[in-house]
Amino acid sequence: MAHFCVNCGAPLVLQTIEGHALEVCPKDGYVLWRDPKVAAAVVVEADGGIVLGRRAIEPGYGLWCLPGGFVDDDEDPAAAAVRECREEINAQVVLTGLLGVYHIAKTTASSIIGIAYRGRLVDGESISAGPEMLEVAVFSPDELPQVAFPSHQAVLSAYVRSPAQQGGAELLNAGAAAQPASQPSPVREAPRRQHKR
Ligand SMILES: [Zn+2]
Repeated sequence: MAHFCVNCGAPLVLQTIEGHALEVCPKDGYVLWRDPKVAAAVVVEADGGIVLGRRAIEPGYGLWCLPGGFVDDDEDPAAAAVRECREEINAQVVLTGLLGVYHIAKTTASSIIGIAYRGRLVDGESISAGPEMLEVAVFSPDELPQVAFPSHQAVLSAYVRSPAQQGGAELLNAGAAAQPASQPSPVREAPRRQHKR
């Protein structure tokens, strides 16, 4: 499908750039780059099993899947994962680890970078189906049903293979950690050695 330049409105023309056929503005050089979308999913541990939801929407209507969805532009992926759990299984979840990062290649739509977390229900929380789910249930890891997406199948396989991990506290603060500290703390700073080269 043809598109128009977001700067000047001119019809874009196909050009090969860095080996990719891309649409380019013939007037100002604007390039319609094809970028991946980012999605997050969570293996939520509860009652010795894993929480799955049965989808009330396409794609995959009627099939089971992990709670998850697309990351908004202003969201840390970990925050998006927690939000999707709130929306889809009606429960507050704390992330306890990173399971993996997955590339889901597409040809007719944007490809997806999927980020999979391990998590658990916050104490006292229970699960119920959000508006995009027909039902939610806890499955034993060795009795998992067929799931809607190959990527979710890969995440579940990785989960079943991997031993329990720690480190979830860092996941939600990744953005804050990327900010440089304005003042180095003299208390926490280790003594530095002089290196000569
Ligand atoms: Zn243009």
